Amino acid sequence: MSGWDAIVGHDWAVQLLSAAIKNSRIGHAYLITGPGQIGKTTLARTFAQALNCEEPLAERPCGRCRFCRLIAEDRHPDVHLLLPEVSGRGTPRIKVDQIRDLQHQLQLSTLEGRYRVAILKQFDAANASAANAFLKTLEEPPPSVVLLLTAADADTLLPTISSRCRTINLRPLGSDVIEQSLMARWAVPSEKALLLSRLADGRPGWAVEASEDEQILHERREGLTQLQDILQDKRVRRFTLAEKLSRKPEQLPNLLRTWLSWWRDLALVAYGQGTINPNVPISNIDQQRVLEEFAASWPLETIVDNLAATGRAIQLLAQNANTRLVLENLLLGYPIPAGEIAQ
Ligand SMILES: [Zn+2]
Repeated sequence: MSGWDAIVGHDWAVQLLSAAIKNSRIGHAYLITGPGQIGKTTLARTFAQALNCEEPLAERPCGRCRFCRLIAEDRHPDVHLLLPEVSGRGTPRIKVDQIRDLQHQLQLSTLEGRYRVAILKQFDAANASAANAFLKTLEEPPPSVVLLLTAADADTLLPTISSRCRTINLRPLGSDVIEQSLMARWAVPSEKALLLSRLADGRPGWAVEASEDEQILHERREGLTQLQDILQDKRVRRFTLAEKLSRKPEQLPNLLRTWLSWWRDLALVAYGQGTINPNVPISNIDQQRVLEEFAASWPLETIVDNLAATGRAIQLLAQNANTRLVLENLLLGYPIPAGEIAQ
């Protein structure tokens, strides 16, 4: 797999960037936005390859020449990758020292390639002084420098930053595109490709990672079992689970997202009067029987309320609310099914 083929979907963005190179109308700064693992950095890195590839214009990026390979491995001397830095237990941040180092590098003439490219990942993690320092580079970029910023959303950046970039907003892909790519390019067996493409929420990077790392699906299965067990348990067991889960806060975002997708599927099944309508794409397709049983035991309204409560818990935790309190409220609020559920 090479060149633009490395990118799953986002055809319009590939066309836009390859046309910019062919027509020599390359912007000095691009902001690539979209949810995590949707392909922002892959697009940025492939664009950097296209800018510096050794092959003739029509064949760039080839993905095979020395420059393309160095860029793929983040080892090309003219292509800089800048990531938020972790310090202590706080949220990773892009700091002003990192920006100053980068600015120094960008002033130098290129060693190997035609363009000096800086990929600034998750620029929404830049603190105010780093963002302000970077503004200078955006306003007066050195010649032959291309700046590629990624962020979840343009609105999270200072308007002075986002207005100086050409924005490329990547949207979630259809599950069929992801399913086809997993089978054709990563040789994932069809049944697994279907499940991963449904669970991916439109993010090909997640699907590829989960196809290569068994642990991801394993953790999901454990999380679903935990949820289905606790729904049938008494109050005291729910307190105990809240306490236990709050000791591993780093695992909570994934766990709660798994629960959220299960509640969402449950709402879809309940909305379809207890059966899975083939036109309604549920995510947890390997859970069909369990979903039908749980959906039959509550009114749709109860399911929708708990779907919302799970979404709220995710938001509260992202805002650093008290972990144990949030989990206790969520778990104690979850309903108990009427009647027996065989699992
Ligand atoms: Zn190349």
